[in-house]
Amino acid sequence: MNIILLGAPGAGKGTQATRIEEHYNVRHISTGDIFRHHMRQQTEIGQLARSYIKKGLLVPDEVTLRIVGIALEESKNENFMLDGFPRNINQATELDKIARIDKVINIAVDFDVLMNRICGRRNCPECGYTTHVSQLGGEGTCPKCGSEMQQRMDDREDTVKSRLTVYTEQTAPLIEFYKAQGKLFEVDGMGTPDEVFAEVRKVLG
Ligand code: AMP
Repeated sequence: MNIILLGAPGAGKGTQATRIEEHYNVRHISTGDIFRHHMRQQTEIGQLARSYIKKGLLVPDEVTLRIVGIALEESKNENFMLDGFPRNINQATELDKIARIDKVINIAVDFDVLMNRICGRRNCPECGYTTHVSQLGGEGTCPKCGSEMQQRMDDREDTVKSRLTVYTEQTAPLIEFYKAQGKLFEVDGMGTPDEVFAEVRKVLG
């Protein structure tokens, strides 16, 4: 089964993706993670992506489609879960030409909650653990591996505002796109990660 995780920034796609990956036999493909990997490696794609990501804008489709094409090629004989892709109608149309999608899960969260979730998000650069600053109890270190927790450069307030605008204008129309294909499943993303995952399991079986 091939899955797409849809949702605004901060809806909890990454958190659910980790759980889905543990419970179901799917390969997790996150375009945001791939771009961040390229940025750390300072590749040409990384440098280009950085100039868009730091402004909260979408990386051009041509580049994004290229990295997704490579990731799908690598997972040719495996089921996959796309997280953060597609993010506009053009990407979704192009995806339909190269892969079969079975289920699209839209994680719905109230907009006023998203800002607090994203601006408070902290990540561990070593092990990838992600949590809200309020859960760190004043400590700046990762509870899993002890490294210094960091804030993503695009999780700062001014960038988050443009990410949410981009979501509303370009990504939200995908809900109707996949509804029309009969593939859309709505999940309430306002609960705890466990509660949301219980909903996800009802969809994935
Ligand atoms: P994410 O980790 O999914 O929130 O992605 C972080 C940033 O990477 C986004 O704000 C975009 O700038 C860029 N990005 C990730 N996925 C895509 C995509 N499908 N299309 C264009 N840009 C993307």
